Amino acid sequence: MGKSSKDKRDIFYRKAKEEGWRARSAYKLLQIDEAFDIFTGVEHAVDLCAAPGSWSQVLSRKLYLPALRAGNPNPPTIVAVDLQPMAPIEGVIQLQGDITSEATAKQVISHFHGQPADLVVCDGAPDVTGLHDLDEYVQAQLLLAAVSIVCAVLRPGGTFVAKIFRGKDVALLYSQLKMLFPEVYVAKPKSSRNSSIEAFVVCRRFDPPPGLAGPGCALQALLAGAAEDYFTAAAEAEAAEAEAAAGGAAGGQLASGGGGGGGAAPLLARAVPFLSCGDLSGGDADRTYDLDPATYVRLDPVQPPTAPNYKTAIALAKGAL
Ligand code: SAM
Repeated sequence: MGKSSKDKRDIFYRKAKEEGWRARSAYKLLQIDEAFDIFTGVEHAVDLCAAPGSWSQVLSRKLYLPALRAGNPNPPTIVAVDLQPMAPIEGVIQLQGDITSEATAKQVISHFHGQPADLVVCDGAPDVTGLHDLDEYVQAQLLLAAVSIVCAVLRPGGTFVAKIFRGKDVALLYSQLKMLFPEVYVAKPKSSRNSSIEAFVVCRRFDPPPGLAGPGCALQALLAGAAEDYFTAAAEAEAAEAEAAAGGAAGGQLASGGGGGGGAAPLLARAVPFLSCGDLSGGDADRTYDLDPATYVRLDPVQPPTAPNYKTAIALAKGAL
């Protein structure tokens, strides 16, 4: 399959090369911004799971470069972290590390020198196995690791944007996030394929309960409490459904909101608004576009991979590792 075939199949892949983005993912963040205005008033930002760096490029172009052009003596601090190394980006401090490790969290925090971030973004994704339950679980754990960093670096009132997989228990993540953010939305940018289960949570007005600042047990307890409520409510709903199906009256009770602290309330808390974002005229990620052979010019990727897996595989095959 030639490179022009991918250009044809994926308008955002082609546009990214034309506009100098390292990955088509840049458009996802840009389209989220179009709908939610996430950059206004932002000075300091964190990009978790950042490689190859297109979201960091967006942060640099939206925050750092304008401040530099305006002669701001204190330009924004932007910290990016990933397991993989990344080629440099102007105004972005890069760290190589695992966001699930406390050491990495501490490293990220150390760059803020007591000045909290206004925005944390996380496009983290595990290497998918194809086993959906497992992939969704690992993705959720990555998100919770990001939440732990959020609790340590984000200022009250700040914004958190993160990739999620919309699997069967995604509502648990919504309830957990709603304990920290009064506003939680799910956004599906047009540049994200419909066939993909990915979407993005946009969490606004960070409002941590007292005693939660900094990574630690209080957060774990809060998240565990939300999980317990979620599974209790799910079990109750299942039991009510079974009873209703058997001709009982339990289904009506659930719908009327009864059940005190454990039942309908957590179920309602899980509902979050869904927003499809991005201008349709910008292209459809699921469509194939014809290329005009008279004007088409093949472009190389903006940034070749710094440490591609195939190099490790070749080295392993040669017995060099
Ligand atoms: N937002 C990036 C961009 O625009 O270029 C793309 C991110 S890519 C979809 C997902 C990234 O998550 C990968 O680079 C991967 O290395 C990173 N990742 C997965 N697990 C991680 C972890 N535990 N710690 C740090 N990075 C992780």
